[in-house]
Amino acid sequence: MIFDTHMHTEFSFDSNEKIERLLEASEKKNLGIITTEHKDLNYEEVGGFPIDFNVDEYFSAYEKHRSDRYLMGIEMGLDQRYTGELKKIADSYEFDMIIGSLHTMKGFNLSSRKYLRTVEERTFYKEYLLYAKDMIEENSFINSFAHFDYPTRYSPYKELKYEDYPEEFKVLFQTMVQQDVTLEMNLKRPLTGDVLDSFRSVYKGYYECGGRFVTLASDAHSAEDIGRNFEEAQQLLDDIGLKICYYKRRKRITD
Ligand SMILES: [Zn+2]
Ligand SMILES: [Zn+2]
Repeated sequence: MIFDTHMHTEFSFDSNEKIERLLEASEKKNLGIITTEHKDLNYEEVGGFPIDFNVDEYFSAYEKHRSDRYLMGIEMGLDQRYTGELKKIADSYEFDMIIGSLHTMKGFNLSSRKYLRTVEERTFYKEYLLYAKDMIEENSFINSFAHFDYPTRYSPYKELKYEDYPEEFKVLFQTMVQQDVTLEMNLKRPLTGDVLDSFRSVYKGYYECGGRFVTLASDAHSAEDIGRNFEEAQQLLDDIGLKICYYKRRKRITD
């Protein structure tokens, strides 16, 4: 079964969705699903607000729904200085899958248009890709690395292409392959136009660096959005030769 490996419910600050509605939608669309609630321990530091949830309550509320088609995960915002704390949480609970995300970088909020407008595009992308490599090296317990295009969505920059930053992408992807961290394909934006060109280039580059697996992610915050843009994604992955996977009890499943 194909799994949608990234979505949020009411345990996340930015979703009101009920687990029951997601389970219903997963049946209807014949997709497996993994809930991945937000934990960004550093968010207040970047001028934001606390983004957190009670993991004990999450397990006591959702564990009873766990099945072959419903698995439980978490989306962790990675940052320097929080590795120990995040690792402890990862080890303390029976998550099926742990997503590592960069919502911040060195004290800056990566969804801040104000911040991104002040940094030159190439300087930013180079620093960002190398920072991603550092964070993955440091947090090697994560299973997938989410939405590489996250800052692009809030910036005036061009979409990322592998061939525009070959050195930076190479070290990032080689590190991921070495540490067995999977590159997520985040499908929040439709796979058309410049986004499709960017994804084709970046995922091809990932393949050239030895990457073989991708997780599919709607990043849905409501049930209607699960599985969004999956058909286009499957087509693209087939063209490149990448395989779709998901995680169960932190192990990669490829069937
Ligand atoms: Zn995210
Ligand atoms: Zn998310």
